[in-house]
Amino acid sequence: MPKPALSRIVIVGGGTAGWMAAAALSKTFPAPLYSITLIESDEIGTVGVGEATIPSIQTFNELLGIDENAFMKAVNGTFKLGIRFRNWKAPGSDYFHPFGVYGVDMGGLNFTHYWMRYHKAGGSGDFGLFNPQTLASREGRFGRMAEINPNVPRVNYAFHFDASLYARFLRSYCEPRGVVRQEGRITDVQQDAQSGDITSVTLADGKQIAGDLFIDCSGFRGLLIEQTLKSGYEDWSQWLPCNRAVAVPCEKVGPATPYTQSTAQEAGWQWRIPLQHRTGNGYVFCDAYMDEGTAADLILQRLDGKAQADPRVIRFTTGHRKQMWSRNVVAMGLASGFLEPLESTSIWLVQEAIVKLIRYFPKDRITDPQRQNFNRDMLTAYDNVKDFLIAHYKVTEREDTPFWAYCKHMDIPDSLKARLDSFRETNDALVRHEELFKEASWFAVLVGQGLMPAAWHPMADLMPEDEFRWRMQKVREGSAGLARMMPSHESYIAKTCPSAQLVTV
Ligand code: FAD
Repeated sequence: MPKPALSRIVIVGGGTAGWMAAAALSKTFPAPLYSITLIESDEIGTVGVGEATIPSIQTFNELLGIDENAFMKAVNGTFKLGIRFRNWKAPGSDYFHPFGVYGVDMGGLNFTHYWMRYHKAGGSGDFGLFNPQTLASREGRFGRMAEINPNVPRVNYAFHFDASLYARFLRSYCEPRGVVRQEGRITDVQQDAQSGDITSVTLADGKQIAGDLFIDCSGFRGLLIEQTLKSGYEDWSQWLPCNRAVAVPCEKVGPATPYTQSTAQEAGWQWRIPLQHRTGNGYVFCDAYMDEGTAADLILQRLDGKAQADPRVIRFTTGHRKQMWSRNVVAMGLASGFLEPLESTSIWLVQEAIVKLIRYFPKDRITDPQRQNFNRDMLTAYDNVKDFLIAHYKVTEREDTPFWAYCKHMDIPDSLKARLDSFRETNDALVRHEELFKEASWFAVLVGQGLMPAAWHPMADLMPEDEFRWRMQKVREGSAGLARMMPSHESYIAKTCPSAQLVTV
């Protein structure tokens, strides 16, 4: 097959985004037809956080043909069934956002409508009883249902992993497939005088690397997309005001929980991500309500194990580049924008950008429709996640600190206003087919934060009472039964994917 005219791909950046892009592109557009060079600078380093994922990462592993246990061993991974939210509705409150649905849809209608009928008639207000992930999480259980009993429904899950080990793992996947890693700091960028396309980048040692298509994975700085091409930035911090994180790992003190924990704090929230060898922690906050030193002191006081490093401050502005594909540069990861990690969506956004790039991949030249389609799809992805994140802050009873008072009373986008109004009245969050977060997610978060719909769909009332009670009982028993089939999370990891570094011989 002749080499396509556009065959030299240059990836700038070797963080999670850069290596994910290199892995997927080397699999889809293999050598020797295509050449892929990845440039990273040890001197600059990576952001080094980003350790909680959502289930779609399994699709990414499948695309690469990665064995899940080998992957988990290499990245000190643990399994994740959802996110536990503490103190978000009010101090002392606790709810779970699981991966997966509640109960089973009946008569074409979402189960949550039936749950509302059940609850209104005096049934338990604990809707987690109808979700196996929630129940398994409460007891620290995990197991892949396909292995435990292939005849029962699957239970959705994702992973927690060590970000630096993940980049290393992907590198070991890429290099045998011909990806060339180039260490060095880019100090200069060359553009075609007529088109403005980038033609090459120059490293500090003078070496020039030329390419046809550049993938900017250079992190917040956006070396090509912003510093060179001046794409512009859409700032969303009026709705998502957190703009700082203090991150600090600590010693593992108990069994790894099969979930991420998010605890609302005075000026933001704190994450807790369990790995096999340590626990990741961070305080995400807004600097208008708390200074960095205070946030660092507070997180150190709130660790459940001994700190393993000094707290590290990361500064960001929520939003996205106006053009994520501009000229011959496609931005991914932090170079394309940032939505705070409340629902672990950034790695998914990298994955989404890779999938869209592969879908619209240029053959011999880049066309406007390719760029426009990519930018439209990515903007939609950012937009939908944005509304879901804002809902966590807006729908709260908290007004106990200036930060929470601001969030509770802030203006929100019209799209979210419409969703909340509709949900409040009819339990319909107006979720569209292509959205990442489906009805069950909106239900978990909105009801978890105190917004109980006034009514449910009238179709849920059509089922005769006896049958309704019987079905609800069966669904509840089914969820509990699935959860009980799972072993403890720790024993499952020990059996199937103990960390390669932690196993002693
Ligand atoms: P980086 O890791 O910053 O990598 C940038 C790369 O570019 C580096 O290799 C650097 O050396 C290179 N580079 C930059 N400039 C140059 C230059 N001049 N020359 C050569 N090389 C250069 N995502 C999730 O999905 N889940 C989470 O739980 C989560 N938590 C997060 C918490 C925080 C506080 C933050 C800030 C982010 C979080 N994320 C999370 C996002 C996640 O960390 C990122 O999406 C992911 O790590 C991708 O980062 P990156 O590769 O785009 O950038």
